[in-house]
Amino acid sequence: MNNENEEEFIEIRLTDIPKEFYSEATGKPFANCSVCEKHLLTAGTRYMVEKAVKRYPKYKHQDVIFEYAICEECQIQMHEKLSTESKQRMMEFMNQRVKPGARSNKFYHEERFELTDWIGNCAVTQQPLAELTEYQIMAPFDGNKMAYTVFPMMLSVQALDEMVELLSTKSLEVLNGFKDDITGMPPDLHELFKESRFVVM
Ligand SMILES: [Zn+2]
Repeated sequence: MNNENEEEFIEIRLTDIPKEFYSEATGKPFANCSVCEKHLLTAGTRYMVEKAVKRYPKYKHQDVIFEYAICEECQIQMHEKLSTESKQRMMEFMNQRVKPGARSNKFYHEERFELTDWIGNCAVTQQPLAELTEYQIMAPFDGNKMAYTVFPMMLSVQALDEMVELLSTKSLEVLNGFKDDITGMPPDLHELFKESRFVVM
């Protein structure tokens, strides 16, 4: 994000962790980093949670294809391994397509702090969640609180496909390696996870 946009996000509002971001596996908030297992629910410990959902509207059923929490340290380590070009292209994509300043104005400055306002539509394509068969949600946390910044955010599979296209072969290899480091994935979903689009913010 450029400096102009960063100034928009100095304010951070913290709320209790919404159920949408609980671990599907435990029915509770994520307590540990899915990579290094560091404890997360202490104030001052920052991390992201990301969940990918596949919906089968015909059967009124949905699966969480993958979910993980990643602590700030592990996230920084992984980002360092991604290629500079990939990171640059992703940043441009976010600035041009998500428009963080406009997003912040729309929600933050109007004090709209209902989660559905933030994740009800794809942040890139604006498609409503109810019409999607596959999407990911992601948000930043601090201990047992969720932080409203430019996140929480929902990305449709169409947006994720565009983002994967921006990644270099090297970066895709890094992300695929990261998938193997994630613990606690249900074994029966392992194949779906392997094939899923995976973009760490
Ligand atoms: Zn970690």
